[in-house]
Amino acid sequence: MTAVYADLQDPSADIRAEIAERSGLLDPLNKIWFHKTAAAVIDADRCVRCGSCVAACPSQSIAIASDGLPTLVRMCTGCSACWDYCPLAGLRPERLWRIEGDEEPVDTAGRVLATYTARAAAPAAGAQDGGVVTALLEALFTAGQITGAIVTKPQGPFAGEAIIARTVEEIRGSAGSVYDQSLPLALLNDPPARPDERLALVGTPCQVTGLRALQRYDWRYRRSLASYVKYAIALFCTRSFDGKKLFREIASRGLPVAGLQKIGVSEGKLEAHAGDGSLLFAAPVKEFDDAALGGCSECADFSGRLADISVGSVGSAEGATTVLVRSEAGIRAWETASNHIASTPGCDLERVQRSSARNTRRAEAALERPLDPEAPLWISYEEHLSEYSGTERAPVTPPAHRSHHYTVAC
Ligand SMILES: Cc1cc2nc3c(=O)[nH]c(=O)nc-3n(C[C@H](O)[C@H](O)[C@H](O)COP(=O)(O)OP(=O)(O)OC[C@H]3O[C@@H](n4cnc5c(N)ncnc54)[C@H](O)[C@@H]3O)c2cc1C
Ligand code: SF4
Ligand code: SF4
Repeated sequence: MTAVYADLQDPSADIRAEIAERSGLLDPLNKIWFHKTAAAVIDADRCVRCGSCVAACPSQSIAIASDGLPTLVRMCTGCSACWDYCPLAGLRPERLWRIEGDEEPVDTAGRVLATYTARAAAPAAGAQDGGVVTALLEALFTAGQITGAIVTKPQGPFAGEAIIARTVEEIRGSAGSVYDQSLPLALLNDPPARPDERLALVGTPCQVTGLRALQRYDWRYRRSLASYVKYAIALFCTRSFDGKKLFREIASRGLPVAGLQKIGVSEGKLEAHAGDGSLLFAAPVKEFDDAALGGCSECADFSGRLADISVGSVGSAEGATTVLVRSEAGIRAWETASNHIASTPGCDLERVQRSSARNTRRAEAALERPLDPEAPLWISYEEHLSEYSGTERAPVTPPAHRSHHYTVAC
């Protein structure tokens, strides 16, 4: 970590004041209003639907519109938080890895304390691989270590709803991978259900990045459950999809969608299964790239480097889950779950490293800025413009509904 950011380690620091002082953003005309985040990310087809902007907004002015994208629903104060906490806009994720103590090279799976190949002792119906995530959450919940878990409840194979599961039934009912983004960080705007709230969050790497930024750079004006999240579990991820587009892509190729119950992506293949587990089809996942979220190609984090525990199918045999334990909290969680999960130490970490390196190369090609863990954490709107203007990912004019409240109220 460079000295200039040392004071930002203090969670009581007022981040806007810090940024204003350092960058001269005190002039209100230089504030980064929501409509700039919309122009540069949401409507430039770069949004990966993590929900950080919704959680970061202190005036709860951002919600999810019917198009599934963050949209202004109240007045925007120009506080700039949606920009600063967006991993595709003002936040440089690879710098956050360093600040969080991960010194491993950018093209690796990051800091790993222990690895396992694992299966749940009693897998939940619909579990994706070894059912390990669900078993882990269930163990933490029944041991009283968490009061709830932010998970994505499948609503068919192409959509999911982010919920805070507060019973074993709800945790088990949310097993399986949804290849669509549910913006789970938006739930961090809820008030705590109890004073001793302790949550786990399951998310894709971009969602865990957003969570860590919210936790590290708290802001006294913001109401957020981020500080109540005690365990972050990341799912390996090369890309996510717009579920409706993925459905259309599959159907338009004449591939079977009726009876399709489960989708999996692993090592370059998209596989679709029926309810009885039989394979309906397998095809190179690249063929479905038109349905993938545009911003995913700029993401260098395959393995969820900032999680306490990361999991995926790569690195283990079919029907098992690869587990990377990364932190002290991760070690505690894994020990708690030992009676719920059958595991053997080790996995094919080489394969996980190869997938990580592939994501990094893809990000380096797609990003219009350098992938640089030593560069400043925050990226100003002007810097973004200088790097992205004139490219295919340049800011665009958002549709009127995206920031209607800015137009009429600010
Ligand atoms: C979009 C996406 C892309 C992935 N890509 C890869 C990949 O390329 N390679 C690889 O090895 N593994 C990938 N995975 C991870 C893999 O599909 C499994 O989730 C993982 O192996 C855990 O399996 P499990 O049986 O232990 O989990 P389960 O016990 O089935 O539990 C899965 C948990 O994930 C939560 N969840 C499901 N979908 C989402 C979502 N979209 N966002 C947030 N939480 C969610 C569920 O609510 C549940 O708590 C991906 C997962 C997703 C969601
Ligand atoms: S990528 Fe995440 S933080 Fe950025 S605009 Fe989309 S939902 Fe918001
Ligand atoms: S590829 Fe990266 S940005 Fe896209 S959903 Fe996965 S973690 Fe998020």
